[in-house]
Amino acid sequence: MVDTTTMCRKHLLGEHVETHMILGTLKSGIRLDGYARNNLLELKSLKKRHDELATEMVRRGYNHQSPLDWKEEDTDSLFQTDEVKNSKVDKSLSLEELHTRCSECRNNHSS
Ligand SMILES: [Zn+2]
Ligand SMILES: [Zn+2]
Repeated sequence: MVDTTTMCRKHLLGEHVETHMILGTLKSGIRLDGYARNNLLELKSLKKRHDELATEMVRRGYNHQSPLDWKEEDTDSLFQTDEVKNSKVDKSLSLEELHTRCSECRNNHSS
């Protein structure tokens, strides 16, 4: 949920892979309630977030050949519970966490 232009390569690519994995998890029916409860997911924004990450990857000249296989009409059936559906990420917390873990992201962000 961090501004994609300030993320380092590793985290940009990492979060991109994550959006694909989350969708795969949803499709396979594995419950995600735990993540939703801990504010680690914002599924309503998953497609938008994937596209933001992919756009930034292409802008930097990285390879992106994996459109997210998410059809709008599937959305309701993919969300397993209301808790999962309405989950929200705490954006300032994610930013803080990323910057604690990664000096490259932190420097990009402040420059
Ligand atoms: Zn992708
Ligand atoms: Zn980073």
